[in-house]
Amino acid sequence: MTHPSQRFAGRVAVLATMHEKEKAIAPLIEPALGVTVQVPTNFNTDAFGTFTRDIDRAGNQLEAARRKAETAMELTGQTLALASEGSFGPHPAFPYLSCDRELVVLIDRQHELEVIGQVLTPETNYSHKVVTNLPAAQAFAQQVGFPQHGLVVITRPEAPSEAEIFKGITSPAALEKAVQHALAITGKAQLETDMRALYNPTRMQAIAQATQDLIAKLLRLCPRCESPGFDLIETVPGLPCEWCGLPTAEVRSQVYGCQKCGHRQTIDFPEGKEKASPAECAYCNP
Ligand SMILES: [Zn+2]
Ligand SMILES: [Zn+2]
Repeated sequence: MTHPSQRFAGRVAVLATMHEKEKAIAPLIEPALGVTVQVPTNFNTDAFGTFTRDIDRAGNQLEAARRKAETAMELTGQTLALASEGSFGPHPAFPYLSCDRELVVLIDRQHELEVIGQVLTPETNYSHKVVTNLPAAQAFAQQVGFPQHGLVVITRPEAPSEAEIFKGITSPAALEKAVQHALAITGKAQLETDMRALYNPTRMQAIAQATQDLIAKLLRLCPRCESPGFDLIETVPGLPCEWCGLPTAEVRSQVYGCQKCGHRQTIDFPEGKEKASPAECAYCNP
């Protein structure tokens, strides 16, 4: 069996970023795949959407990452590209908790391959607040890890179309200046965490985690055709209850699939246990 990295070794992987994401991605992916990561110059990823006044874009998050990767390949003529895209908002299972969903996609035109690494983490400082005085702004700043993490200050929180936006604030003096400016206009200032990777070390770590997920998938080869990215495509519930044997909502099997040849493999009892606790059973423990 060929080693997974042989498809990539010696190639250039263009990374579509203007926010220094190579700092998180390159040190992991270069040794794992034998590629050299290159960031195209004059690549304006902001044209693909920004985070300010962010809404949950989970639905088109992958499409946005794909477009960035495709554009980077068109600009450089390379056939291998990486792009990442983050989305911030309430955690799907715990709405009181903010979370960061990060995708890192690899597209290989030479082998007609697309593999997606991802992570969903509550480790994020994603937050925003409207304040009416400087001490409140400074208290918010301290909560969200300023000045290691950058801030955004927006004037006229009630009239977004007339707002001025100050991004990438990383010094107490710049914060004070922007907040006082906003307060002088309407008595209010909107503060937001700057989620761009270079202003947000916590997000940089999440991007690194998604990159590790991507690498793990790339190194998992299809047992039939040896394509990288043999990936979990379905989890099947129904692990039987230890007492009554009825199916529970716990995972019984995982199905892995190959996007190239369609080969599927079902792994029963992926966590090594063949029975569910009666506490998980709708019959034994209603
Ligand atoms: Zn296959
Ligand atoms: Zn039961």
